[in-house]
Amino acid sequence: MAQRVLIVEDERDLATVLAYNLRADGLEVATAETGAAAYREVQAKQPDLVILDLMLPDVSGLDVCRTLKGNPKTRDIPIIIASARSEEVDRIVGLELGSDDYVVKPYSVRELVLRVRIILRRTEPATTAAADLVRFGVLAIDRAAHRAFVNDQEIALTQLEFRLLTTLLERKNRTQSRETLLTDVWQLNASIETRTVDTHVKRLREKLGPAAGYIRTVRGIGYRFASSPDEPQVDA
Ligand code: CA
Repeated sequence: MAQRVLIVEDERDLATVLAYNLRADGLEVATAETGAAAYREVQAKQPDLVILDLMLPDVSGLDVCRTLKGNPKTRDIPIIIASARSEEVDRIVGLELGSDDYVVKPYSVRELVLRVRIILRRTEPATTAAADLVRFGVLAIDRAAHRAFVNDQEIALTQLEFRLLTTLLERKNRTQSRETLLTDVWQLNASIETRTVDTHVKRLREKLGPAAGYIRTVRGIGYRFASSPDEPQVDA
């Protein structure tokens, strides 16, 4: 069965082009031009992913994001935020609320379709070949499929959490400052809120459970991935 994408966008031309490209990629697409219509579509169709414009005629896209992420029935639907460059702060709030990824308008439709594909791949049935897995203690990562496992149980990470985890792992035993992580993982200007890094590390650690200790806090600087799974924990 085709996976379903809901486009919440009041610029009709943009929604039409995007819908055309997603359908060409084999997806089922619904559109909504207002927040109210978005809620109706989510209720009626339970989409597998939502592309959410932040500037809607009736409510802010952030309210839609907050409502969907606050309801157990819709919490797990991935959200990609689409917003103008000037809405950087709102984008960060969206990420804090649990949105998976974002694109900055004007965006490349091709790139957005790729991002949709990457996120949807996670929700498809597991066909992971053992050879693709990078292992570190109880943690295993399948880069190609953007999936992570702890003790062979998959953990549901957002795109950003996955990027944060793999970036830290790639640079294991090397301290990464919050500013470096903001630039490399979030692709954001490091002069803005570095607190967002801490929020996401906290959430990532919660999801990692038994593997949480691999991410070490380096007081006053940032974070470091352990040099080996057995590296002793020293209180920072
Ligand atoms: Ca708009």
